[in-house]
Amino acid sequence: MIRPMRPVVIAANWKMNTTPADAGDLATTIARRTAVPGVERVICPPFVCLAAVRDALAANDASVSVGAQDVHHELAGAYTGDTSATMLTGLATWVIVGHSERRRDHDETDERIGRKLARAVDAGIRPILCVGEQLDDRDLGQAVEVVDSQLAGALFERDRDALSRAGLVIAYEPVWAIGTGRNALGSDAAAMAEAIRATLSRLGWGPVAADVPVLYGGSVTAANIGDFLAEPSIDGALVGGASLKPDEMAGIVGRAGVTAAARLAATT
Ligand code: PEP
Repeated sequence: MIRPMRPVVIAANWKMNTTPADAGDLATTIARRTAVPGVERVICPPFVCLAAVRDALAANDASVSVGAQDVHHELAGAYTGDTSATMLTGLATWVIVGHSERRRDHDETDERIGRKLARAVDAGIRPILCVGEQLDDRDLGQAVEVVDSQLAGALFERDRDALSRAGLVIAYEPVWAIGTGRNALGSDAAAMAEAIRATLSRLGWGPVAADVPVLYGGSVTAANIGDFLAEPSIDGALVGGASLKPDEMAGIVGRAGVTAAARLAATT
């Protein structure tokens, strides 16, 4: 059976940056500078900027999607300051789940991250599940085991078919590479992408595992994105710091367009 071509995705994680007053203009500028065929673009601003970014993109380039940076694992209740999947309906069509900064600052466990995935999927929101090892894990040769265990914990008892239909994306983000300026090697990221798909197969995903897009994240820039996209197992990037800079995003998405065009040519 011929498997479908995996999409090329560049997702911007603005983290706790921008305000409702300036986020729309930045999103519009980035959309205009990154209008490259074949690349799925997603901008994930802070919750309070979602409406501004949604409106700006609807007016200027509706092909750029809006994503949230988190979602709560319950639908409603006494969770002060949190945001549920139903609240995101109409604001975001993607959501980042399990980012290492949330694991670190909000004690998010794999089990809770799995429940967030389910909430997102139930609400029709496409999840990007983040996984990645600490530097000590890599130095001890345990990076694959750590990521395997994060995946197994988050996906345990989750509806595989629903996640697959929702277009689950996995972002491999080694924690030591996030915001540090020290990116992983393309070859290491590619090896991890293969390991991630092997884990999905082991967890019962079967051949569908090959269709799950795997992004790399960790100090991605216009200068180094080519190292990752040269690897056939890597399908794009989750970009933090550089995603606030239109010049960087233009370079990153431009390079992603080369990969998207090559993949398309390979299937026709
Ligand atoms: C991220 O926020 O997911 C990220 C990878 O950040 P940075 O690109 O700044 O390392």
